[in-house]
Amino acid sequence: MRVEKMSQMQLSHCPEYTPQHVVFEIRDPEIGLTAFVAVHKARYNVPGFGATRFWQYSSEEEALRDALRLSRLMSYKGAAADLPYTGAKAVIMYTEKAAEHRKEIFERYAKAVESLQGQFITGTDVGVTNEDVQDMSHHTSYVIGKNVDPAFFTARGVFLGIEITLQEVFGSREIRGRHFAVQGAGKTGMALLHMLKDAGADLIITDTNPQRREELRNEFPLAAICEPQDIYEAKVDVFCPCALGGVLNHDTIPLLQCRAVAGSANNQLCDELSAQELNQRNILYAPDYVINLGGLASVVDEFQYHTADADRIEEKLHDMTALLEDIFTRRRDSHMPPSVVADEVMQERLYGSVFTPTYVLN
Ligand code: NAD
Repeated sequence: MRVEKMSQMQLSHCPEYTPQHVVFEIRDPEIGLTAFVAVHKARYNVPGFGATRFWQYSSEEEALRDALRLSRLMSYKGAAADLPYTGAKAVIMYTEKAAEHRKEIFERYAKAVESLQGQFITGTDVGVTNEDVQDMSHHTSYVIGKNVDPAFFTARGVFLGIEITLQEVFGSREIRGRHFAVQGAGKTGMALLHMLKDAGADLIITDTNPQRREELRNEFPLAAICEPQDIYEAKVDVFCPCALGGVLNHDTIPLLQCRAVAGSANNQLCDELSAQELNQRNILYAPDYVINLGGLASVVDEFQYHTADADRIEEKLHDMTALLEDIFTRRRDSHMPPSVVADEVMQERLYGSVFTPTYVLN
């Protein structure tokens, strides 16, 4: 197995690359392991926190760009949660060969994480199961989220964020009787679905996995289950993206029939123009890294105190709702998209100004 720091030359062609990025490539051709660990050093001499994704990419470049993009988002999420760390993200490329060697993939990947000596601390993201996390924890001490369920706290934060979003759009936080379209019923989507159902929401749900759609019919008999491509046109109050990023783009935004977007997925907006487009359509967007910070807050709580405490995490989520209210207020005053307002607030928290420094020493 090889673990190597990538040079600036190898990275500078990626539009997502910034001078704050430090990237390691991990390779073991024998078992089909290719992974990229991106640490976004928005702060000096502190660990980078970010979960690991096991996903199918069309190319190594696509995987690398995903890690770069998500690691920067994690710095902003850490700032939103007022955490004294920086952001990171890892992607392991899913291939048939890698899937056949799943246990060894996570074992060797964990050893590579260990060799980074705490620069990078990780946990579960899309495609990584709680069992994978347990397996990794036998080979590195830099895995968190073993004794806490980050997906639950992510969903709890999204739920509270939805209430604030409803208040902003409709003048009432009441969930009962409101309509929600949920895209993706995985770890976070499923937890959110249960919270919404218990609060009396009307639900339209989809997942790309046909077997999961069947399970949803049994678990949520009163909900409508739709084909993945139909979720955008659902006539609902809130669209909740809980699958992958980039779903708010120039093809999908014109289809939306909702008044607000609030979900657990990271990097929901395809680009800044998409944020403007949503604003022009008067669809309120709850910035992803703000409302989904509960998962990060929960694993960092476990890291800091060894045992995560639900009350401490709930306090962080309460602070998040105040931040979201502030972002919506500033958006009302400035007419800027909420995502742009949120980025400016985080840049001020991280760098003391809305300008990102051009150089950070690694
Ligand atoms: P997961 O792998 O458990 O679930 C994702 C689900 O989405 C799967 O069921 C998958 O079949 C489905 N899916 C994929 N593409 C889809 C599409 N186009 N349409 C409909 N369904 C689709 O993942 P997760 O942990 O729930 O994470 C979901 C999102 O939330 C990701 O963007 C992740 O980065 C983000 N997130 C997760 C956490 C966490 O604690 N797990 C925390 C913060 C943010």
